[in-house]
Amino acid sequence: MSSHLDTPQGPFPPKVERAFLDICRKYPEQVLTSNDSSMKEGFEYLFSVGLSFPGAGTKYSKRKMMKDRISAFSQGKGKISSLISMMKIFPKIFIGLKRSYRDLEPYIQEIENLSFKRTNLPPPSTNHELWEELNLYTAKKWDITKIGFTELPRELIFKDKLVLFRYALVFIQEMNKDKIDQAPLSAAGREVMRVYATLGQAVNEIARWLRKKGIRCQSNHPLGGLVCTPPLAGKAGIGGQGMHGMLITPEFGSRQRIAPIFIEEKIFDYTDNSDHIWIEEYCKTCGLCQKNCPANAIQEIKRITINNVPGIGAMRTCIDREKCFPYFLKTTGCSICLKVCPFSKGNQTYDKLKDIINKKKN
Ligand code: SF4
Ligand code: SF4
Repeated sequence: MSSHLDTPQGPFPPKVERAFLDICRKYPEQVLTSNDSSMKEGFEYLFSVGLSFPGAGTKYSKRKMMKDRISAFSQGKGKISSLISMMKIFPKIFIGLKRSYRDLEPYIQEIENLSFKRTNLPPPSTNHELWEELNLYTAKKWDITKIGFTELPRELIFKDKLVLFRYALVFIQEMNKDKIDQAPLSAAGREVMRVYATLGQAVNEIARWLRKKGIRCQSNHPLGGLVCTPPLAGKAGIGGQGMHGMLITPEFGSRQRIAPIFIEEKIFDYTDNSDHIWIEEYCKTCGLCQKNCPANAIQEIKRITINNVPGIGAMRTCIDREKCFPYFLKTTGCSICLKVCPFSKGNQTYDKLKDIINKKKN
């Protein structure tokens, strides 16, 4: 019997994602769709326009992308070991991406049978015990030391995409400082890809763990963009968005990747807060990411803003994707903007910079 998710498609987004979206789009009343304020951001935007940019000619095919990545990994010292480690990382990423959609088969069957949206459910109560258990499990097993929980604003679902459930658990995993400090060498790019793979595996397994406990949920691989994650993590109180548009947290600065799990019911307390809003103020005095970006891709004046979603603030897209992407690809992960960000240093830099801002105010 063929699977719902076997529809043959083009290179990006992955065919399992396209198949999922194709089916669910037929039943918009049963799922959570993007709205008029939604956009395509980051790589999602580039995938949607066919990855066409100067020098690439026409469409940037999956084959060409892989060739460029192999060539980037093969530069400099340690060619062979770089190549071997890349060969280990990419299959993990693709397996994780596929799994996140294949695990949704039972829900997709419900959607097609028009029985997915469950009405007349009793209002859920906050499950403090499960929250504790989840935090312990994810810390011990998956090296995830901080989780957010919030309502997903439809504005953050990428344009024309959708998710199955309204509430979002948000997870972050650290990228190693010594590796990111080597940006733009391939060691930094490998670290970026490594954490895409490990966090993708983590959210898939955490979702399976939750389902065993009766929680209906959907994991979203960090490279499988259905939603814009930095403002979502910001709304969930995990950190704030920097001038480079990425999440800055007290624990890791700019050095993390983000992935959500969407769940059906509001069974945890929201972690929303605006504790990190001062970061925007600090960025106005810093600008190091912008000054050091080799592609001149970080915009001082943000082109796209959104003011109507509580908890997200005014900042959205900060990186000129057409400029960043060729360099990102050439170096397989660039990460200079993460490296130079003072918050990425560790050693309580977050607290020290917060003190500076507070003193200036007083
Ligand atoms: S990843 Fe590199 S090219 Fe892209 S915005 Fe950051 S510093 Fe610039
Ligand atoms: S490098 Fe400076 S301006 Fe850029 S995000 Fe970090 S703190 Fe903000």
